[in-house]
Amino acid sequence: MGAEFVRDVAPGEIVIIDENGVHSVQAISSEKRALCVFEFIYLARPDSVIDGETVNVARREMGRQLVREYPVEADMVSSVPDSGTTAAIGYAEESGIPFGEALIKNRYIGRTFIQPSQKLRDLGVRLKLNPVKEILVGKRVVLVDDSIVRGTTSKKIVKMLRDAGVKEVHLLVSSPPVLYPCFYGIDTSAKGELIAASHEMEAIRQRIQADSLHYLSLEGMMKAFKMPAGSFCAACFNGEYPISVPCNTCSGKYKLERETRSGGA
Ligand code: SF4
Repeated sequence: MGAEFVRDVAPGEIVIIDENGVHSVQAISSEKRALCVFEFIYLARPDSVIDGETVNVARREMGRQLVREYPVEADMVSSVPDSGTTAAIGYAEESGIPFGEALIKNRYIGRTFIQPSQKLRDLGVRLKLNPVKEILVGKRVVLVDDSIVRGTTSKKIVKMLRDAGVKEVHLLVSSPPVLYPCFYGIDTSAKGELIAASHEMEAIRQRIQADSLHYLSLEGMMKAFKMPAGSFCAACFNGEYPISVPCNTCSGKYKLERETRSGGA
């Protein structure tokens, strides 16, 4: 648009532009910030700047942090396009392994995890991504994805790469396991559909049929930001909902489950 960035609109603020110019009112007080961390993982465009954090820089740093946590011997780093690409570039930069486009995205197909039924999602993956066989045969590939929600897409992509002749597929996820549903309007999935909520890591790896599977730690992800960890909502990873969820029983249930997990269950 050629517009000049002035500042972010604060939570609860209304900016009014009228015959008197630009002025604002704080309609609802906002004592605690809880910016959705999923904006930085998947939702926001990579060229977005949110509260002074550049999404591209944060995603690249998540990829760099993945190398520090999970260095892998491989011939090529690639991504599940588009949202995994920036983190994959970060992984390639930090590890020194070259980045290559293993999968090409069809630009005319929409996001798969938001589509309403499994059948449509299945079809969506096949229509959406195509492997570049010529650069994949016999290669050990680090495949970076931004997140795994149900795991069904990841399984298809790993199979697609194997069918294209890839020797090893190491799936690295630039965010932690999604363990809890979102009650604030992001349609990640119901809890029963979240693969990490019901499966151990090795079981997920076997299901996806990757040679190895690693998720970025929550602490590692938070290192990608200038803002302190307390500025974000990360409830789908840690179950700590910043404001109470729609029903009291849900709130108690998720808190209880988190305590059980951290207690070594
Ligand atoms: S629960 Fe997850 S998706 Fe929902 S607002 Fe919090 S971080 Fe974002």
